[in-house]
Amino acid sequence: MSKELSLYFHFPFCKRKCYYCDFNSFSGFDQLMPDYIHALLAEIKFYLPQSGKMIKSIYFGGGTPSYFPVNSLIEILKFVTTHFLVPGKAEITLEANPGTINVEDLIQLQEAGFNRLSIGLQATQNDLLRRIGRIHSAQEFYDIFELARETGFQNIGVDLIFGLPGQKLEHWQNTLHSVTEVGPEHISAYCLQLEPGTRLHHQVSLKEVSLPPEEEVVEMMEFTMVYLQERGYEQYEISNYAKTGYKSVHNLGYWLGHDYLGLGAGAASTRLGQRWANIKDPKDYIENLKKGISVVAERESIDKHTAMIEAVMLGLRLRSGINLQRFYDKYAVDLILKTQKDLESLLNADLIEINDGTLRLTYKGILTSNKIIATLIANL
Ligand code: SF4
Repeated sequence: MSKELSLYFHFPFCKRKCYYCDFNSFSGFDQLMPDYIHALLAEIKFYLPQSGKMIKSIYFGGGTPSYFPVNSLIEILKFVTTHFLVPGKAEITLEANPGTINVEDLIQLQEAGFNRLSIGLQATQNDLLRRIGRIHSAQEFYDIFELARETGFQNIGVDLIFGLPGQKLEHWQNTLHSVTEVGPEHISAYCLQLEPGTRLHHQVSLKEVSLPPEEEVVEMMEFTMVYLQERGYEQYEISNYAKTGYKSVHNLGYWLGHDYLGLGAGAASTRLGQRWANIKDPKDYIENLKKGISVVAERESIDKHTAMIEAVMLGLRLRSGINLQRFYDKYAVDLILKTQKDLESLLNADLIEINDGTLRLTYKGILTSNKIIATLIANL
Protein backbone atom coordinates (compact mmCIF):
# COMPACT_ATOMS: atom_id res chain seq x y z
CA MET A 1 0.00 0.00 0.00
CA SER A 2 1.44 3.35 -1.03
CA LYS A 3 2.52 5.59 1.79
CA GLU A 4 2.23 8.64 -0.45
CA LEU A 5 -0.76 10.69 -1.42
CA SER A 6 -1.51 13.80 -3.46
CA LEU A 7 -4.19 16.35 -2.65
CA TYR A 8 -6.26 18.35 -5.11
CA PHE A 9 -8.48 21.27 -4.05
CA HIS A 10 -11.05 22.52 -6.53
CA PHE A 11 -12.05 26.20 -6.61
CA PRO A 12 -15.04 26.36 -8.94
CA PHE A 13 -15.49 30.11 -9.36
CA CYS A 14 -14.20 32.33 -12.16
CA LYS A 15 -14.58 36.03 -12.88
CA ARG A 16 -16.16 35.11 -16.21
CA LYS A 17 -16.75 31.84 -18.01
CA CYS A 18 -14.38 31.38 -20.97
CA TYR A 19 -16.27 30.48 -24.14
CA TYR A 20 -14.55 27.11 -24.65
CA CYS A 21 -14.67 25.95 -21.04
CA ASP A 22 -16.67 22.97 -19.82
CA PHE A 23 -14.90 22.59 -16.48
CA ASN A 24 -16.91 22.65 -13.28
CA SER A 25 -16.60 26.41 -12.90
CA PHE A 26 -19.13 29.19 -12.43
CA SER A 27 -19.21 32.96 -12.58
CA GLY A 28 -21.50 35.21 -10.54
CA PHE A 29 -21.25 33.20 -7.30
CA ASP A 30 -18.59 35.30 -5.56
CA GLN A 31 -20.79 35.72 -2.48
CA LEU A 32 -20.44 31.97 -1.85
CA MET A 33 -16.65 32.12 -1.52
CA PRO A 34 -16.43 32.36 2.32
CA ASP A 35 -18.88 29.47 2.78
CA TYR A 36 -17.06 27.46 0.12
CA ILE A 37 -13.77 27.82 1.99
CA HIS A 38 -15.46 26.65 5.22
CA ALA A 39 -16.85 23.69 3.31
CA LEU A 40 -13.41 22.75 1.97
CA LEU A 41 -12.01 22.89 5.50
CA ALA A 42 -14.89 20.73 6.72
CA GLU A 43 -14.30 18.19 3.96
CA ILE A 44 -10.56 17.89 4.57
CA LYS A 45 -11.32 17.07 8.21
CA PHE A 46 -13.02 13.88 7.01
CA TYR A 47 -9.64 12.77 5.74
CA LEU A 48 -7.66 13.34 8.90
CA PRO A 49 -7.34 9.55 9.37
CA GLN A 50 -5.14 9.67 6.23
CA SER A 51 -2.88 12.20 7.88
CA GLY A 52 -0.13 9.60 8.36
CA LYS A 53 0.47 9.53 4.61
CA MET A 54 3.26 11.52 3.09
CA ILE A 55 1.81 14.27 0.91
CA LYS A 56 3.77 14.29 -2.33
CA SER A 57 1.98 17.18 -4.01
CA ILE A 58 -0.82 19.64 -3.37
CA TYR A 59 -2.65 21.30 -6.23
CA PHE A 60 -5.10 24.21 -5.99
CA GLY A 61 -6.97 24.12 -9.30
CA GLY A 62 -10.20 25.31 -10.75
CA GLY A 63 -12.00 27.33 -11.78
CA THR A 64 -9.70 30.13 -10.73
CA PRO A 65 -8.19 29.62 -7.28
CA SER A 66 -6.38 32.97 -7.55
CA TYR A 67 -9.81 34.65 -7.79
CA PHE A 68 -10.37 33.70 -4.12
CA PRO A 69 -9.01 35.93 -1.33
CA VAL A 70 -5.40 34.94 -0.77
CA ASN A 71 -5.83 34.57 3.00
CA SER A 72 -8.45 31.87 2.43
CA LEU A 73 -6.09 29.90 0.15
CA ILE A 74 -3.39 30.21 2.79
CA GLU A 75 -5.81 29.09 5.52
CA ILE A 76 -6.40 25.85 3.64
CA LEU A 77 -2.73 25.24 2.94
CA LYS A 78 -1.88 25.91 6.61
CA PHE A 79 -4.51 23.40 7.71
CA VAL A 80 -2.97 20.77 5.47
CA THR A 81 0.62 21.44 6.48
CA THR A 82 -0.36 21.42 10.16
CA HIS A 83 -2.34 18.17 10.08
CA PHE A 84 -0.66 16.11 7.35
CA LEU A 85 2.93 15.10 6.69
CA VAL A 86 4.06 17.58 4.05
CA PRO A 87 7.80 17.39 3.38
CA GLY A 88 9.63 20.57 2.43
CA LYS A 89 10.20 19.27 -1.11
CA ALA A 90 6.48 18.65 -1.78
CA GLU A 91 5.25 20.39 -4.92
CA ILE A 92 2.54 22.92 -3.99
CA THR A 93 0.87 24.45 -7.04
CA LEU A 94 -1.59 27.28 -7.42
CA GLU A 95 -3.40 27.87 -10.70
CA ALA A 96 -3.55 31.60 -11.36
CA ASN A 97 -5.08 33.70 -14.08
CA PRO A 98 -3.64 37.07 -15.05
CA GLY A 99 -6.00 39.78 -13.90
CA THR A 100 -6.83 38.01 -10.62
CA ILE A 101 -3.62 38.32 -8.63
CA ASN A 102 -1.24 41.11 -7.56
CA VAL A 103 2.23 41.45 -6.10
CA GLU A 104 1.09 41.44 -2.44
CA ASP A 105 -0.83 38.23 -3.11
CA LEU A 106 2.22 36.62 -4.68
CA ILE A 107 4.45 37.55 -1.74
CA GLN A 108 1.99 36.09 0.75
CA LEU A 109 1.48 32.92 -1.28
CA GLN A 110 5.20 32.36 -1.61
CA GLU A 111 5.77 32.90 2.09
CA ALA A 112 2.93 30.51 2.91
CA GLY A 113 4.65 27.68 0.99
CA PHE A 114 3.20 27.69 -2.53
CA ASN A 115 6.23 26.85 -4.66
CA ARG A 116 4.74 26.46 -8.13
CA LEU A 117 2.44 28.68 -10.18
CA SER A 118 0.48 27.48 -13.16
CA ILE A 119 -0.60 30.51 -15.17
CA GLY A 120 -3.45 30.30 -17.69
CA LEU A 121 -2.50 32.35 -20.74
CA GLN A 122 -3.73 30.41 -23.85
CA ALA A 123 -2.42 32.87 -26.49
CA THR A 124 -0.45 36.09 -26.71
CA GLN A 125 -2.74 37.81 -29.26
CA ASN A 126 -5.30 40.04 -27.53
CA ASP A 127 -7.89 39.61 -30.26
CA LEU A 128 -7.69 35.81 -29.87
CA LEU A 129 -7.97 36.15 -26.09
CA ARG A 130 -11.08 38.31 -26.50
CA ARG A 131 -12.56 35.87 -28.98
CA ILE A 132 -12.45 33.05 -26.43
CA GLY A 133 -13.70 35.18 -23.54
CA ARG A 134 -10.50 35.44 -21.51
CA ILE A 135 -10.59 38.27 -18.96
CA HIS A 136 -6.99 39.39 -19.43
CA SER A 137 -4.59 40.80 -22.00
CA ALA A 138 -1.22 39.34 -22.99
CA GLN A 139 0.48 42.25 -21.19
CA GLU A 140 -1.22 41.29 -17.92
CA PHE A 141 0.35 37.85 -18.32
CA TYR A 142 3.85 39.31 -18.82
CA ASP A 143 3.34 41.55 -15.78
CA ILE A 144 2.24 38.73 -13.53
CA PHE A 145 5.02 36.47 -14.78
CA GLU A 146 7.66 39.08 -13.98
CA LEU A 147 6.19 39.77 -10.55
CA ALA A 148 6.06 36.05 -9.81
CA ARG A 149 9.76 35.76 -10.61
CA GLU A 150 10.59 38.84 -8.52
CA THR A 151 8.68 37.46 -5.56
CA GLY A 152 10.68 34.22 -5.74
CA PHE A 153 8.64 31.69 -7.74
CA GLN A 154 11.24 29.50 -9.42
CA ASN A 155 8.82 26.99 -10.88
CA ILE A 156 6.22 28.49 -13.20
CA GLY A 157 4.07 26.69 -15.74
CA VAL A 158 2.12 28.36 -18.54
CA ASP A 159 -1.00 26.89 -20.15
CA LEU A 160 -1.59 27.47 -23.85
CA ILE A 161 -4.23 26.33 -26.36
CA PHE A 162 -3.91 25.86 -30.11
CA GLY A 163 -6.69 25.42 -32.65
CA LEU A 164 -8.51 28.55 -31.42
CA PRO A 165 -11.08 30.33 -33.58
CA GLY A 166 -9.30 32.73 -35.92
CA GLN A 167 -5.87 31.36 -34.98
CA LYS A 168 -3.32 30.92 -37.74
CA LEU A 169 -0.12 28.89 -37.60
CA GLU A 170 1.80 32.15 -37.42
CA HIS A 171 -0.15 33.29 -34.32
CA TRP A 172 0.69 30.03 -32.61
CA GLN A 173 4.35 30.26 -33.59
CA ASN A 174 4.47 33.78 -32.17
CA THR A 175 2.79 32.64 -28.97
CA LEU A 176 5.36 29.89 -28.46
CA HIS A 177 8.18 32.24 -29.29
CA SER A 178 7.02 34.93 -26.85
CA VAL A 179 6.34 32.47 -24.05
CA THR A 180 9.68 30.68 -24.37
CA GLU A 181 11.37 34.10 -24.35
CA VAL A 182 10.10 34.73 -20.81
CA GLY A 183 11.23 31.20 -19.96
CA PRO A 184 8.74 29.31 -17.78
CA GLU A 185 9.90 25.93 -16.47
CA HIS A 186 6.83 24.16 -17.81
CA ILE A 187 4.51 24.63 -20.80
CA SER A 188 1.21 22.85 -21.39
CA ALA A 189 0.09 23.11 -25.02
CA TYR A 190 -3.42 21.73 -25.40
CA CYS A 191 -5.35 21.26 -28.59
CA LEU A 192 -8.74 22.98 -28.31
CA GLN A 193 -11.56 20.53 -27.66
CA LEU A 194 -14.90 21.84 -28.84
CA GLU A 195 -17.16 20.73 -26.00
CA PRO A 196 -20.95 20.54 -26.41
CA GLY A 197 -22.78 23.01 -24.19
CA THR A 198 -20.07 25.67 -24.34
CA ARG A 199 -20.64 29.09 -25.83
CA LEU A 200 -17.93 28.38 -28.41
CA HIS A 201 -19.68 25.19 -29.50
CA HIS A 202 -22.85 27.22 -30.01
CA GLN A 203 -21.01 29.93 -31.97
CA VAL A 204 -19.39 27.32 -34.21
CA SER A 205 -22.71 25.54 -34.87
CA LEU A 206 -24.27 28.88 -35.84
CA LYS A 207 -21.21 29.53 -38.05
CA GLU A 208 -20.58 32.77 -36.15
CA VAL A 209 -16.95 31.71 -35.75
CA SER A 210 -14.90 29.02 -37.40
CA LEU A 211 -12.03 26.90 -36.20
CA PRO A 212 -8.79 26.42 -38.14
CA PRO A 213 -8.80 23.51 -40.61
CA GLU A 214 -7.55 20.17 -39.27
CA GLU A 215 -4.35 20.23 -41.40
CA GLU A 216 -3.39 23.58 -39.88
CA VAL A 217 -4.05 22.27 -36.36
CA VAL A 218 -1.79 19.28 -37.08
CA GLU A 219 0.89 21.69 -38.31
CA MET A 220 0.57 23.62 -35.03
CA MET A 221 1.06 20.40 -33.09
CA GLU A 222 4.08 19.39 -35.18
CA PHE A 223 5.61 22.81 -34.81
CA THR A 224 5.12 22.70 -31.04
CA MET A 225 6.92 19.37 -30.67
CA VAL A 226 9.94 20.50 -32.68
CA TYR A 227 10.14 24.08 -31.45
CA LEU A 228 9.80 23.41 -27.73
CA GLN A 229 12.31 20.60 -27.90
CA GLU A 230 14.80 22.99 -29.55
CA ARG A 231 14.19 25.50 -26.78
CA GLY A 232 15.08 22.98 -24.09
CA TYR A 233 11.63 21.68 -23.16
CA GLU A 234 11.22 17.92 -23.02
CA GLN A 235 7.86 16.62 -24.19
CA TYR A 236 7.11 14.20 -21.37
CA GLU A 237 3.39 13.87 -22.08
CA ILE A 238 1.48 14.51 -25.30
CA SER A 239 0.51 18.05 -24.23
CA ASN A 240 3.13 18.78 -21.58
CA TYR A 241 6.70 20.02 -21.84
CA ALA A 242 9.21 20.76 -19.11
CA LYS A 243 12.75 21.90 -18.56
CA THR A 244 14.95 19.33 -16.83
CA GLY A 245 13.77 18.70 -13.29
CA TYR A 246 10.44 20.50 -13.72
CA LYS A 247 7.92 17.85 -14.81
CA SER A 248 4.70 18.35 -12.89
CA VAL A 249 4.87 15.90 -9.98
CA HIS A 250 1.15 16.25 -9.38
CA ASN A 251 0.01 15.60 -12.94
CA LEU A 252 2.51 12.76 -13.38
CA GLY A 253 0.79 11.14 -10.41
CA TYR A 254 -2.53 11.17 -12.32
CA TRP A 255 -0.95 9.75 -15.46
CA LEU A 256 0.87 7.02 -13.57
CA GLY A 257 -2.31 6.00 -11.75
CA HIS A 258 -1.18 7.02 -8.25
CA ASP A 259 -3.66 7.67 -5.45
CA TYR A 260 -4.99 11.14 -4.81
CA LEU A 261 -7.75 12.82 -2.86
CA GLY A 262 -9.78 15.50 -4.59
CA LEU A 263 -11.65 18.00 -2.43
CA GLY A 264 -14.28 20.51 -3.47
CA ALA A 265 -17.33 20.61 -5.74
CA GLY A 266 -17.00 18.06 -8.54
CA ALA A 267 -13.54 16.89 -7.43
CA ALA A 268 -12.65 13.25 -8.07
CA SER A 269 -10.52 10.94 -5.95
CA THR A 270 -8.83 7.58 -6.47
CA ARG A 271 -7.70 5.51 -3.55
CA LEU A 272 -7.11 1.81 -2.96
CA GLY A 273 -8.95 0.68 -6.09
CA GLN A 274 -11.94 2.94 -5.45
CA ARG A 275 -12.88 6.06 -7.35
CA TRP A 276 -15.40 8.64 -6.26
CA ALA A 277 -16.54 12.10 -7.30
CA ASN A 278 -18.16 14.89 -5.33
CA ILE A 279 -21.41 16.74 -6.02
CA LYS A 280 -20.74 19.29 -8.76
CA ASP A 281 -23.01 22.11 -7.62
CA PRO A 282 -21.06 24.36 -5.20
CA LYS A 283 -24.26 25.34 -3.35
CA ASP A 284 -25.22 21.71 -2.69
CA TYR A 285 -21.63 20.94 -1.76
CA ILE A 286 -21.66 23.74 0.83
CA GLU A 287 -25.10 22.80 2.18
CA ASN A 288 -24.21 19.14 2.62
CA LEU A 289 -21.05 19.95 4.51
CA LYS A 290 -22.93 22.41 6.75
CA LYS A 291 -25.24 19.53 7.67
CA GLY A 292 -22.38 17.06 8.01
CA ILE A 293 -23.72 14.95 5.10
CA SER A 294 -21.46 13.19 2.62
CA VAL A 295 -20.67 15.13 -0.57
CA VAL A 296 -19.85 12.03 -2.62
CA ALA A 297 -22.15 11.84 -5.66
CA GLU A 298 -20.81 8.70 -7.32
CA ARG A 299 -18.50 5.89 -6.38
CA GLU A 300 -17.10 2.94 -8.32
CA SER A 301 -14.63 0.14 -7.81
CA ILE A 302 -11.92 0.08 -10.41
CA ASP A 303 -11.72 -3.56 -11.50
CA LYS A 304 -8.53 -4.99 -12.94
CA HIS A 305 -9.72 -4.73 -16.54
CA THR A 306 -10.64 -1.05 -16.20
CA ALA A 307 -7.35 -0.34 -14.45
CA MET A 308 -5.48 -2.06 -17.29
CA ILE A 309 -7.26 -0.06 -20.00
CA GLU A 310 -6.56 3.16 -18.13
CA ALA A 311 -2.90 2.20 -17.75
CA VAL A 312 -2.65 1.81 -21.54
CA MET A 313 -4.51 5.04 -22.27
CA LEU A 314 -2.44 7.09 -19.85
CA GLY A 315 0.84 5.24 -20.39
CA LEU A 316 0.78 5.88 -24.12
CA ARG A 317 0.27 9.59 -23.53
CA LEU A 318 3.57 9.63 -21.66
CA ARG A 319 6.80 9.77 -23.65
CA SER A 320 8.23 7.25 -21.20
CA GLY A 321 5.61 4.84 -22.55
CA ILE A 322 4.57 1.51 -21.02
CA ASN A 323 7.15 -0.76 -19.48
CA LEU A 324 6.00 -4.17 -20.73
CA GLN A 325 7.46 -6.23 -17.87
CA ARG A 326 5.93 -4.00 -15.19
CA PHE A 327 2.63 -4.12 -17.08
CA TYR A 328 2.78 -7.93 -17.10
CA ASP A 329 3.67 -8.06 -13.40
CA LYS A 330 0.69 -5.86 -12.54
CA TYR A 331 -2.02 -7.22 -14.86
CA ALA A 332 -0.70 -10.68 -15.84
CA VAL A 333 -1.23 -9.68 -19.47
CA ASP A 334 1.36 -9.79 -22.24
CA LEU A 335 0.49 -6.53 -23.96
CA ILE A 336 2.35 -7.45 -27.13
CA LEU A 337 0.57 -10.77 -27.51
CA LYS A 338 -2.77 -9.30 -26.60
CA THR A 339 -2.58 -6.48 -29.16
CA GLN A 340 -0.69 -8.37 -31.89
CA LYS A 341 -3.65 -8.18 -34.29
CA ASP A 342 -3.01 -4.44 -34.78
CA LEU A 343 0.51 -4.07 -33.50
CA GLU A 344 2.34 -5.01 -36.68
CA SER A 345 0.57 -2.53 -38.92
CA LEU A 346 1.09 0.25 -36.33
CA LEU A 347 4.78 -0.64 -36.09
CA ASN A 348 5.14 -0.77 -39.88
CA ALA A 349 3.45 2.61 -40.22
CA ASP A 350 5.96 4.00 -37.72
CA LEU A 351 3.15 5.04 -35.35
CA ILE A 352 4.39 3.08 -32.35
CA GLU A 353 7.77 1.71 -31.31
CA ILE A 354 9.07 -0.94 -28.95
CA ASN A 355 12.47 -0.20 -27.48
CA ASP A 356 14.16 -1.58 -24.37
CA GLY A 357 11.02 -3.41 -23.31
CA THR A 358 8.90 -0.26 -23.58
CA LEU A 359 5.95 0.42 -25.86
CA ARG A 360 5.41 4.04 -26.82
CA LEU A 361 3.98 6.27 -29.53
CA THR A 362 6.44 7.65 -32.07
CA TYR A 363 6.43 11.39 -32.79
CA LYS A 364 4.38 10.58 -35.88
CA GLY A 365 2.01 8.52 -33.73
CA ILE A 366 1.43 11.42 -31.31
CA LEU A 367 -0.35 13.28 -34.11
CA THR A 368 -3.06 10.61 -34.24
CA SER A 369 -2.75 9.39 -30.66
CA ASN A 370 -6.48 9.04 -29.95
CA LYS A 371 -6.99 6.70 -32.89
CA ILE A 372 -3.97 4.55 -32.04
CA ILE A 373 -4.87 4.26 -28.37
CA ALA A 374 -8.46 3.33 -29.28
CA THR A 375 -7.18 0.66 -31.69
CA LEU A 376 -4.92 -0.90 -29.08
CA ILE A 377 -7.39 -0.92 -26.21
CA ALA A 378 -10.03 -2.53 -28.43
CA ASN A 379 -7.83 -5.67 -28.12
CA LEU A 380 -7.91 -5.73 -24.32
S1 SF4 B 1 -10.58 30.57 -16.22
FE1 SF4 B 1 -10.30 28.37 -16.60
S2 SF4 B 1 -11.87 27.34 -15.40
FE2 SF4 B 1 -12.43 29.52 -15.51
S3 SF4 B 1 -13.83 29.62 -17.20
FE3 SF4 B 1 -11.79 30.09 -18.02
S4 SF4 B 1 -10.97 28.10 -18.69
FE4 SF4 B 1 -12.75 27.68 -17.39
